[in-house]
Amino acid sequence: LTTRLPAVGTTIFTRMSALAAQHGAVNLGQGFPDFACDARLVDLVAEAMRAGHNQYPPMTGTPALRRAIADKIGALYGHAYDADAEITVTAGATQALTTALLAVVHPGDEVIVIEPAYDSYMPAVELAGGVVVPVQMVLDDAGYRVPWERIAAAVSPRTRLIVVNSPHNPTGSVLREADLEALAAIVGGTQILVLSDEVYEHMVYDGQPHASVSRHPVLAARSFVVSSFGKTYHTTGWKIGYVAAPAPLMTEFRKVHQYNVFSVNAPMQHGIAAYMADPAPYLELPAFYQRKRDLFRAGLAGSRFELLPADGTYFQCVRYGAISPLPEAAFAEWLTTDIGVAAIPVSAFYRQPKESGIVRFCFAKRDETLALALERLASL
Ligand code: PMP
Ligand code: GLN
Repeated sequence: LTTRLPAVGTTIFTRMSALAAQHGAVNLGQGFPDFACDARLVDLVAEAMRAGHNQYPPMTGTPALRRAIADKIGALYGHAYDADAEITVTAGATQALTTALLAVVHPGDEVIVIEPAYDSYMPAVELAGGVVVPVQMVLDDAGYRVPWERIAAAVSPRTRLIVVNSPHNPTGSVLREADLEALAAIVGGTQILVLSDEVYEHMVYDGQPHASVSRHPVLAARSFVVSSFGKTYHTTGWKIGYVAAPAPLMTEFRKVHQYNVFSVNAPMQHGIAAYMADPAPYLELPAFYQRKRDLFRAGLAGSRFELLPADGTYFQCVRYGAISPLPEAAFAEWLTTDIGVAAIPVSAFYRQPKESGIVRFCFAKRDETLALALERLASL
C-alpha cells in the first residue's frame, strides 16, 4: 500500500498524552482543560436529548445555532453573515479546516502555511492534492511574528490560499490590526483565498481585541473563518465548531461537508444554541485564562526557563536552553518521564523539524494542577 501521507505518523498530542498517562505525569502537553464545563450547558444538552432532538439535524446545522453564531460574530466583529447561506456547523474546527481545504484546493495549487503550524493544516492540503509552501514566523525579543514581506514573496500565480491562525497555536502570539492590513494588501485584487483558524478567538489577553479577519472587509470577502466550541466552552471532547464564509465559498464548502460528515450531532447544537443567548461565558474567558497565564508565569519566574510572550491561546512557550542541551522532542520526553510534567516540542509544528530550544505548556488547568506542575518545574 502506498501511503497518501508519507510525512505523517501519529500526532504529537496523542503520543505525549500516552506518555504522560504511562508515567503519571501532569499533562500540560495536549491542549485541553482538566476542569468541568458549565453544568448549565450539560443540562441544556440533556434537555435537548430528552425533548427528542436525537435524529439528523439539517446538513448545515440547526437554524437556531447558525443564527446564534451569526449574531455573535456581528456583535463582536461587526460583519453580518447570512445565517442560512454563510454559516455551517462542523464536527470541531479540524473538520472545518480539512473540509474547507478539500473544497477549494485543486491538485497542484499552492497553499501558504505559516510555521510553526497546527498539525492538521499540511496533511489536509496534501490530501487535497495541493502543494504546501511553508513560511516561517520570525522570533525576536518581542516574540513570534509573521514576516508579511516573506509571505508576499512566497505568492506565485499558483497560490490558491493562505492559512492564518490567531491567536496562534503553539506560539501564543496574536495578529494585530496592522497584520490584517498587511494580509489584505497581499490578497486584495487577487484570487487568493484565506483560511483563518480562530479557535482561540476568546483567549486574547491584556485588554487586546481579537483581530478576526471578519473585521476587515477585504479579508472577510475571501475568507473561511473557523472556530471551535471545544475551546470556548471547555468541551474539547464534544467536537463541535463552525465555519463562516461568503455564500459562494460556503456553497463549495457544503458540497464537501455533506459527504464528509453530512451533519453534526443534534442535541449539542440545540444545547449550545440556547447557551449562547448569554454572552457572559465567552466575554469572561479572557479574564479567566489571563489569571491562569499569570499564575503559571509567576510560578516559573524563579526557574531557569525563559518565558516567551503569551498574548493569546492557553499555551505558554518557554526556552529551556539554560536547563538542558537536549533537542526539543527528547527534552519534552525527559520532562514527562523524569520530572513528571508533559509538554509539547514546538519542533513538531514544522515540516522539517526545526530546533529552537522551545517547548509549549498548556495552562488550561485547575489551579491545583498548575501548582503541582510548578512544584516540579520551578526547581529546574
Ligand atoms: N486549530 C487549532 C489551532 C487548534 O489548537 C485546535 C485544537 N487543538 C484545532 C484547530 C482543532 O479544534 P477542534 O478540537 O474543534 O477540532
Ligand atoms: N489542539 C490541541 C493542542 O494543540 C490538540 C488537539 C489534538 O489532540 N488533535 O494541543
